[in-house]
Amino acid sequence: MLVGHNPASEIYVRGKIKACAEIGIYSEKITPPELISPEELLAIIHQLNHRPEIDGILVQMPLPKQVDSRRVLESIEATKDPDGFHPTNVGHLVAGRPAPRACTPAGVIEMLKYYRIPLDGRRAVVVGRSDIVGKPMALMLLQENATVTICHSRTFNLAEECHRADILVAAIGRAAAITGEFIAPGATVIDVGQNRIDDATEAASLGREEEFARKGYALVGDVHPIDVTRRAAAYTPVPGGVGPLTIAMLMSNTVGLAEQRQASAKRVST
Ligand code: NAP
Repeated sequence: MLVGHNPASEIYVRGKIKACAEIGIYSEKITPPELISPEELLAIIHQLNHRPEIDGILVQMPLPKQVDSRRVLESIEATKDPDGFHPTNVGHLVAGRPAPRACTPAGVIEMLKYYRIPLDGRRAVVVGRSDIVGKPMALMLLQENATVTICHSRTFNLAEECHRADILVAAIGRAAAITGEFIAPGATVIDVGQNRIDDATEAASLGREEEFARKGYALVGDVHPIDVTRRAAAYTPVPGGVGPLTIAMLMSNTVGLAEQRQASAKRVST
C-alpha cells in the first residue's frame, strides 16, 4: 500500500512490485490518497487481513502525518507481516524464535554468512538504534553469538567504540560520518546508510565527481567511501551493497509467510 505521492516511496514500491513479478508472487498495489483518514486506512488493512489469498501486507513508510504509523503497523496481522515490524514478530526475534525479521538487518546477516565472515565470539558494533535497522541488527548479531555493542547519538567516544569492532555496522543516516579513525584495520564494515549528496564539492571530496556529473547528485553511505577501502578487509559499497538485499529478504519473508499459512491450513483440515 502506497499512500499519497512520495517520490522515494514510489521508487521503492516499484522495485518491490518488480521483484514480486520476477519470482511469481501475485501482487496488488493499493494507492489511497494523501488525505485518507486513519479509520479508512485501517479498514483497508482489515479487509486485506481477511483475504485468504493475501499472504503479506506491506504499507510503505513514511505515512502522512494524520496517520499514526505504529497503529497501522500493529493493525496488520502478525502472520501477514513481511516487514517483520509487528510487535509479535519483534518479540519472536527477541526470544530467538522463527518469524519474519526486519528485512535490512536480515539481509546483512545473509550476506555475512554468504561471505563466511566469522561472527561467533567476534566483537560487533552497531551504530544506530532505530526499530527498523539498528535494534533488530544488534539482536540478530547477538543470536549469531557476536559480542554486540549498540552505539547512538549519545554515545561517548564513538570512534573508540567503533575501532574495537571486528564487524562494524553503520546505520545512522549521515553521509560519510564513519571515517578512517573509526575503522580497525582488517575489520568488516557494513554500510546501511543511503544519503543523497547534492553539493558538487562534497561529492568530489568523496571521490564521486563522476557520478555527480552524470546524475546531478551522488548516493553515499554512512561510511567514508575512500577511507573504508584503505582500512577494511571487507566492506559493502553504496550503492549496490546492502540495498538490494532488503527487497530480496522481503520476498523471502513473504514466501515464508505463505508456506506457514499453507501448513497451518493443512493442519486445520486434517
Ligand atoms: P533513523 O531512524 O534516523 O536512526 C538513525 C540512528 O542513528 C539513531 O539511532 C541515531 O541515534 C543514530 N545517529 C544519528 N546520528 C548519529 C551520530 N552522529 N552518531 C551516532 N549515532 C547517530 O535511521 P534508520 O531508519 O535506521 O536508517 C539509517 C540509515 O540507513 C539511513 O541512511 C537510511 O536511509 C538507511 N536505510 C537503508 C536501508 C537499505 O535498504 N539499505 C533500509 C533502511 C534504512 P539516536 O537514537 O540517539 O537519535
